[in-house]
Amino acid sequence: MAEPTFRYHPDPLASGSAVRTDHVCGVCRKDRQIRYRGPVYGRQPDSLCLHCIHSGAASRALSTSGGGDGDSETAAVFSDAVDVPDDVPLSVVEEITHRTPGFAGWQQEAWLYHCGDGAAFLGPAGYRELEAHPEAIAMLREDHRRYGWASADTEQFLRGLDRTGEPTAYLFRCLHCNTSLASWDVG
Ligand SMILES: [Zn+2]
Ligand SMILES: [Zn+2]
Repeated sequence: MAEPTFRYHPDPLASGSAVRTDHVCGVCRKDRQIRYRGPVYGRQPDSLCLHCIHSGAASRALSTSGGGDGDSETAAVFSDAVDVPDDVPLSVVEEITHRTPGFAGWQQEAWLYHCGDGAAFLGPAGYRELEAHPEAIAMLREDHRRYGWASADTEQFLRGLDRTGEPTAYLFRCLHCNTSLASWDVG
């Protein structure tokens, strides 16, 4: 059976948010071959397939109740909406947080947005991977400038970026203008 495709996370296997392994999904109870291994902000499933993320079934099934008598339930999400620009429609934020595989970072990760839409997450990146994306490096330099980093410190930081270690950059691509974007975290 074909795996679902995600507009904002085109290749969860390549990004490391999913692995190829036989498992029974804890939400749909079906035998699946691809297993999600990114974060779930909600109840933790034994195992989760990408179909259930795509359909929204996982977000509903893993929701947490608010407690008390009210039946207010909080749907599970796979990433948090942080610093979303005003020109991004709510439906986009909903699709990214509720129906798109997230990714694990060293800190809480923010999705990136560009041209009024969510950007596609490509995966974690070290300096080597970023070198092919000068716009993404420029974006990190600009971020650091805003935070008041000295440029020598920034260059040292950039060269220390590691795809699997700390610190890591997270590479995105705008779905409209194709610009490469990167976020980063500090251990
Ligand atoms: Zn499933
Ligand atoms: Zn753009």
